[in-house]
Amino acid sequence: MTGSLLVHAIVPRSRANGPGERMTVWVQGCTLACGGCFNPGTHPGGEAATSVAELLAMAEALPIEGVTLTGGEPLQQAEGVAAFGAGLKARTGLGLIILTGYSRREIEDDPARLAAVAHADLVVAGRYQRLAHLGGGLRGSSNKAYWWLTGRYRGVELEALPDLEVLVGADGTLTITGMAAPTIG
Ligand code: SF4
Repeated sequence: MTGSLLVHAIVPRSRANGPGERMTVWVQGCTLACGGCFNPGTHPGGEAATSVAELLAMAEALPIEGVTLTGGEPLQQAEGVAAFGAGLKARTGLGLIILTGYSRREIEDDPARLAAVAHADLVVAGRYQRLAHLGGGLRGSSNKAYWWLTGRYRGVELEALPDLEVLVGADGTLTITGMAAPTIG
C-alpha cells in the first residue's frame, strides 16, 4: 500500500472519538482557520510523514472497532486518506470515521475529496463554529452534519460517547480528548 500521511498524534484505543474503542489519528496540517478551533497545534504543515502501510499495520494489530481520522484537516491529504481507507476496508473489518472541516457539498464537488471518503462509514462534515459549540457527540458544533455512508453506526451511539477522556500512555504521556476537552496547542 503506497501513500503517507502527516500525523500530529495517534491514540491506539480511544473511547471518545466514535463507537467502541478506536485508533484515533490526528493528522497534521489545516488551512481552514475556523474561529475557536480547539486544536490549533495541528494547523502548521509538517515534514515527517507516516506511511499508510505503517498506519494500517498498527490498526490491524489492535483489538478495536475502528479508526477515526481527525485533525488537522484529513481531506487536505486526500490521496493518503483514500489509500488508508481502501487498505483498511480491503484488509480488515474495521470501521472508519472521518472528521473534516469541509462541508458535504465541498466534498462532493471535489473528486479527490470524494475519493478520500469513499471507504468511510461516517463523515462528520463542516466548519467548526464556536458560537454553535456542542459539548457531546462528534459534531463539535451544531452546524456540522453527520453524513452516513453505511449503516454501520447510528446517531444514538454517538450521543452516548464520553464528552471527555483522559489517557495515560505507556511513557506517562497524558492525552485529553473528547468534545469537552480544553483547547490544546
Ligand atoms: S477544520 Fe478542524 S482543525 Fe481545521 S481550523 Fe477547523 S476545527 Fe480547526
